[in-house]
Formats: sequence, C-alpha cells, structure tokens
Amino acid sequence: MSVKSFNLVKIRDQFPILNKKINNHQLVYFDNAATTQKPKKVINAINEYYSEYNANIHRGIHTLAEKATIEYEKTRKSVSQFINSKSEKEIIFTRGTTEGINLIASSFVKNFLKKEDEIIISEMEHHSNIVPWQMICEENGIVLKTINVLENGEIDLDNFKELINDKTKFLSIVHTSNTLGTVNPIKQIIEICKKNNITTMVDGAQASAHSKINVQDLNCDFFVLSAHKMYGPTGVGIVYGKEEILEKMPPYMGGGEMIKEVNFLKTTYNELPYKFEAGTPNIGDVIGFNKALNFISDIGFDNISSYEKKLKDYASNSLNKIDGLKIIGNSKNKIGIFSFTLKKVHYYDLGLLLDSKGIAIRTGHHCTQPLMDKFNLEGTARVSLAIYNSKEEIDYFVEKIKKLIN
Ligand code: PLP
Repeated sequence: MSVKSFNLVKIRDQFPILNKKINNHQLVYFDNAATTQKPKKVINAINEYYSEYNANIHRGIHTLAEKATIEYEKTRKSVSQFINSKSEKEIIFTRGTTEGINLIASSFVKNFLKKEDEIIISEMEHHSNIVPWQMICEENGIVLKTINVLENGEIDLDNFKELINDKTKFLSIVHTSNTLGTVNPIKQIIEICKKNNITTMVDGAQASAHSKINVQDLNCDFFVLSAHKMYGPTGVGIVYGKEEILEKMPPYMGGGEMIKEVNFLKTTYNELPYKFEAGTPNIGDVIGFNKALNFISDIGFDNISSYEKKLKDYASNSLNKIDGLKIIGNSKNKIGIFSFTLKKVHYYDLGLLLDSKGIAIRTGHHCTQPLMDKFNLEGTARVSLAIYNSKEEIDYFVEKIKKLIN
C-alpha cells in the first residue's frame, strides 16, 4: 500500500477476525486500548517460525538456529528504526510494558536512587506505572509523589513544577492515557526534568500505534511499550534505554544468555542488550512483532494520524449527542479513547448489552483506580478506536445505545 493511498477496506481485509460474527452480529471491536487485533502477516509469521525454522537463538550453529537468530535480531533493528534509537543495543526485549517498568524499577531506581529521594508519577497512570514504584519506594525509603490531573483530563503542569525539588530524581509518566485518551506534553515535561537532572521514563503503551515516537527527539532516558497494543502479539514488549545508562545498570534477572562467563568465583555479564535478556525469549512472537511494525509503517503515521483524528472527532460528536452520556477526559490533545458514563444505565449492563449485539467495549476501572477515585467513579464504559474502525461502526454503536436508553 502506498503512503498516499489510505484504503480502509484493504486494511480491514488484513484482519481475519474482523469478519467474525459475535452473537450473530458482525463484530465491532472497540476494545483496542486493551489489545489490538492482529493482521494476517503477523499471524503467518508466527506460524511460519514454528512450522519452518523453530530453534533456539544465539547459541546454535545449525541452519535453523541461524535463521531464527537472524529473524529475531531483525525485529530489534526494526524497533530501533521505528522509535529512532541511536543504536540497536538500546532495545531490550521484554514480555511487555509491565515487565519493562519493573526492569527499570529493579535495575535503575533500586541501584541509583537513595533513601528520601523522590519519584514523580501522575494521577492518570495505569496500575503498572504505579505499583512497581510503590514497591521499590517502600523497600528503599524513596518518596512517591503524584501530579494532579485537571477536571478536563489534562495534566496539571503548574502542579508538576511545584513538586520538583532537590530530592526529585526520577519521573515516570504515561505518554497517552488508556482511560482519558489524553496525550501528555511529553517533550515539555522531559525538558523540565532535564533542567532539573531528573531521569525520565515514558510509558508508551497507548501511544506507539497512534503517533510517531522519536526517542532521540523526546530525549527521554527510558521508553517502554507493548507489541500487542500495536497489532503485534502478546508477550512481547521493549525497554528503550540510553546506552550510557543501560551500561551502568546491573542485570535485572540472572540466567543463561545474559552472561559472558560463569564460574563460582565470579560471573561476568554479557554486553548490551543481552545483559538484560536472561533465558530463552519469546522468539516466535518477537518475529511476529516485526510484521506488526511493517503493517504500521506501510500505512504511515501521516495516514494513521489523519484518519484516526477524523474518526475520533466523528465519535466525539456522535457520543456528545446522546442524552445523559458524559465523557470523562476532554483534553485538547487526545486520541480516540472515550471513557463515559450513562445516566440511566450501569456500565456493566451496557457492556453486556452491546456484546449481545456484537460490539466489544471495555467496562470497569481500566487499571486506573486512583484516577477513578479522583473523578468519584467506580468505573466507566470505554470505547477505544484503532486504524481499522469505521464511521459505520460508530453509527451502529450509537444506534444501539440510543435504543437502550429509549
Ligand atoms: N500502561 C498503559 C498506559 C496501558 O494502557 C497498559 C495496558 O493497558 C499498560 C501500561 C500495561 O501494558 P501490558 O499489560 O501490556 O504490560
């Protein structure tokens, strides 16, 4: 597909699951923030690995091992290009965003922050960008602070600046909120941190499929993401870290692959990035991830941004016309994620009813309980859009909600 021609039919054709009927209705998949669907080329690549060249990587000298290693390392190169890291050594494969954050907490924060130092996160973080910091803070006497979120779902930058003092050493912040859809002014936040010698980590789980990520331009120290939110397989993610910082960090886990030499007096560690990749990795899914990156690159972020913006505006207008529907999170800069409440209908009942019509939405706290508390909510319904969704699907969804209310 050429960069200039955006063809929704051709895009949808690549996703076998989108033709499925759920409860006798055509599937409308609006739970993309939880996980996206996978195009054929991703599914085929995983299938091909297991049927044609399944072998362990890096250690083998036989043909299959060599082929598997080459394909696995090709993904590292693609990720490096995709987020514009300086070097492939800065890309570490993990099981996903959650493991990435835990790696940084255990290997960086635990070793380079001291008692009474301070970490800043925000009120809109996913639990996986809260709990690892709470655990490491409790263990090491570090203080955790949170930036306020404003009523419209934007981050309170004045409050952020007020929180910074001589003890602030680390900031971990979500790029794009999975509950509010808010796109944070990440570059500006990082600039402020750099002026104050604060190490920065960006949770890119919801951002990486929707906008171009350029880690050198952002100048963040760490960036984490999950393949499964980018049309790729589950069980794969990456940590990006600046090489000079990763070099200083001790390994996260011990085992095979991450060592140079082992003996009972002293073990030496492997070079980057292998120092952080102990044990046999998720080879087939890493190889599949490469095809997901190809899928996104083939469409191009210009096309993705312009189509997804139109779809978001259309959904926003349609939802706002529904009586008693309240959207939580109306920041100026947001993606197509709509958390909402309905006056007369509990979100759980709504989710079940829509499922009976073939529509998959999310209900609950979306792993952001502190944010729910902030807005005095137990939970919401959530629609989250992706590149294969259409205006017709939004119309169908709105029609079903209106019927329910009436
Ligand atoms: N951060 C954000 C903003 C998320 O939306 C999610 C998942 O929904 C995560 C982190 C955790 O990602 P994973 O479950 O893939 O580790």
